[in-house]
Amino acid sequence: MTEPWKTCTKCNQTKPIENYYRTGEGDKQHSSCEACYEVQVARNKKPVRPYSKHCDICDRKEDELLGFLVKDKDRGEICRGCYYVLSSLEPRLHLLPNILTYLEKF
Ligand SMILES: [Zn+2]
Ligand SMILES: [Zn+2]
Repeated sequence: MTEPWKTCTKCNQTKPIENYYRTGEGDKQHSSCEACYEVQVARNKKPVRPYSKHCDICDRKEDELLGFLVKDKDRGEICRGCYYVLSSLEPRLHLLPNILTYLEKF
């Protein structure tokens, strides 16, 4: 027998069982009410960043941009070409000014 009322584990409010989503397995319901569940789902979604579809580095238009992580920080989205360059440069990123100076010399 299922009890017709259930206490939400998030907001601690006792609500009728129809205020809970089903989990999809049998007659089981989520332990948090619909309202709390919605909040949870919204929170789990990735923050939507303004999607430009332009590479942050070369401004090239790409269908698919890649996120690049440097020192665990998300540096935005770049195209495959720049991703490749950055990945190979990553261990020497601190030398980049030197590299540029070197290149300008010749
Ligand atoms: Zn709730
Ligand atoms: Zn690029």
